[in-house]
Amino acid sequence: MIIAIDGPAASGKGTIARRLAAHFDLPHLDTGMLYRATALALMDEGGPLDDVERAVAAARGLALVDFDETRLRGREMGEAASVVAAMGPVRAALVDMQRRFTLHPRGAVLDGRDIGTVIAPEADVKIFVTASPETRAQRRALELKGRGEAVDYAAVLADIRKRDERDSHRSSAPLKAAADARILDTTDLDIDGAVKAALAIVEKAGG
Ligand code: C5P
Repeated sequence: MIIAIDGPAASGKGTIARRLAAHFDLPHLDTGMLYRATALALMDEGGPLDDVERAVAAARGLALVDFDETRLRGREMGEAASVVAAMGPVRAALVDMQRRFTLHPRGAVLDGRDIGTVIAPEADVKIFVTASPETRAQRRALELKGRGEAVDYAAVLADIRKRDERDSHRSSAPLKAAADARILDTTDLDIDGAVKAALAIVEKAGG
């Protein structure tokens, strides 16, 4: 069974994807990490983020192991990832790796922005997880605070809006729900409620 989970930043899609993967004993790929790791490689080289050739080389050089989660999950990396993710050639360089992941004999859970539309249009279940920008900013601010990062709610909300705008309006694989995705709005749900609702969607789809 392939489960595709898409949605904007801090919608809850990552936690939902992890919990569904654990529940159904499926491998899980957080595809945002690929874009974050590509951006981090460019930053570590000291080059600009919009150098397409170097960004493609960095994307091709990624391995699905050894991600430095602490650095990759930071606030600035989400923004940097969204810049490299807007470049078509970078996305193209990462497609095969993601498609290969879906070929696991038992299936897989992938979360990102274009899983149901581009990476796994054949997925058995597609869920588009969303929530209001204010709720997402509150969640992200709490998460960053928990990781010891200094946070200012207004700045986090501005980041979220900017990232939504860039991810939704880029020409290459913009963030949007697949026509056959179920929309899961988590604005008024806590994480257990959101996971329960996602599980109900999968079970209804025959999972
Ligand atoms: O999900 P996460 O916040 O880690 O993603 C970081 C950025 O990577 C997103 O804002 C988006 O621009 C990009 N991304 C993408 N396609 C994916 C996953 C992430 O464009 N499948």
